[in-house]
Amino acid sequence: MSKKLSDYYKNFETQIEKIAQNIKNGEAKPKLLLHSCCAPCSSAVLEKLMQYFDITIFFYNPNIYPQAEYLRRKEELYKFLPIFLKDKEPVIIELLYEPKEFYDAIKNVENFENMKEKSERCFKCYKLRLMRCAKKAFEQHFDYFTTTLSISPHKDAERINEEGKSIENLLRSENPKEKIPEYLFADFKKKNGFKRSLEFSEKYGLYRQDYCGCIYSREQKPKDNIQNPKI
Ligand code: SF4
Repeated sequence: MSKKLSDYYKNFETQIEKIAQNIKNGEAKPKLLLHSCCAPCSSAVLEKLMQYFDITIFFYNPNIYPQAEYLRRKEELYKFLPIFLKDKEPVIIELLYEPKEFYDAIKNVENFENMKEKSERCFKCYKLRLMRCAKKAFEQHFDYFTTTLSISPHKDAERINEEGKSIENLLRSENPKEKIPEYLFADFKKKNGFKRSLEFSEKYGLYRQDYCGCIYSREQKPKDNIQNPKI
């Protein structure tokens, strides 16, 4: 990875500065498709980004096991958004829950069942969700796409950003004449982002899951995870 790309938080600030200046000059907020994994992670990210973007939430998480847990996280997000956004109607795009897409994405990773977080299995999982988000953003003419995932201290923000930028570049090479949504660099845990998500969870009484999402992370969760949330 290039040194420039690895400085992703600085890249995020550069992108935001440019957007803020454009808004100041009278331009409309750019359209952002924000991949969301759950309500707690989305809360602090939305707080940070709402002033700069016209945001649509993208809920696509085939990694979550079991289906009851998937529905619980989804319902919590759908319940939380109208309360949090107050006078603004939330716009949500949701893809069908197809766990096979997750298992297909990780099947060639050696020993994936026994891997911990921030492993090759997780990198495939980030990529799958970012790729779907980027493709949807492209089809629906968004200006930017990104994900809430980097707010978690258990996620590899460097890898998330590397995947996001590579996907943008891939779409550009496949569609040289089209406008391609730009990947918004992010490390949302920075500047107290993760702490802020804990505060919002407390304030709104949000359900905070105690494992990342897939069956493997569920089986590996320590017994005291309620005190030490994984997200
Ligand atoms: S631990 Fe989380 S990021 Fe890693 S594969 Fe499982 S659900 Fe995906």
